[in-house]
Amino acid sequence: MDEMELMIDLHKDGDRQGPGSPEATLQALAFTEGIGPDSRILDIGCGTGGQTLTLGKKTGARIEAVDFLPAFLEILEGRAARAGLGERIHGVRASMEALPYPDGSFDLVWSEGAIYNMGFARGVREWRRLLKSRGFLAVSEICWFTKERPQELTSYWEGLYPEIDTVSGVTKVLEEAGYRPVAHFLLPESCWLEAFYEPLLERLEDFLKRHGHSPGARALVEEHQEEIRMYRKYKEHYGYGFFIAQRTGD
Ligand code: SAM
Repeated sequence: MDEMELMIDLHKDGDRQGPGSPEATLQALAFTEGIGPDSRILDIGCGTGGQTLTLGKKTGARIEAVDFLPAFLEILEGRAARAGLGERIHGVRASMEALPYPDGSFDLVWSEGAIYNMGFARGVREWRRLLKSRGFLAVSEICWFTKERPQELTSYWEGLYPEIDTVSGVTKVLEEAGYRPVAHFLLPESCWLEAFYEPLLERLEDFLKRHGHSPGARALVEEHQEEIRMYRKYKEHYGYGFFIAQRTGD
């Protein structure tokens, strides 16, 4: 199995594939005035649909849920059908870097824990065209929560994602990309630990057994253990900001 197949196998059984929670999704949604059953939502990097189901249940909107991994979309579609949302939630295999929709297609563009894959600044610039005039963007992004940080932590994140910025820096990027910042909040620790890392840790042993403790599986487990160690040690200094903004300039 290659690295991507192992990654899918490790994460497919999670409720979600990154930090977040239904409460945080609803908190962000509360800032997107006017979104309801007649709205069209695009959920980018949806994974197995943790936030998609929350959005679907709360709004009754039509949701295009995009991911580049068919294995995650299959799970999302099963979950949506079981929740009675099969008609409203549509899984779409596409790259977030080449989204197959005309300009002005959506009232709300959503993305939790995924935009870093193409970089925040590029993502918000390129996704803006998909929004109707005054449409909303709601996106979670890894941020520095403090101005000064231990060197070990700075080096770790600069290796993984050099674009990581402070909350004020991320807000400025939104302003410069043609959005009006509406609100932001920081995801609480429970979104990382209880909702994501703890269930993941519980799956590690079975995952290793399933793959006969192969070098690839062990390497992936070690990578995740290191990520969790860093979070536990330095969670004062970084985390996800959830940013809600509105398309302006037209
Ligand atoms: N939004 C989900 C959540 O919070 O549980 C999933 C977050 S997970 C950290 C990132 C997701 O982005 C994965 O499902 C991954 O397959 C998807 N992804 C990564 N790169 C992508 C790309 N270039 N185009 C589309 N999806 C991508």
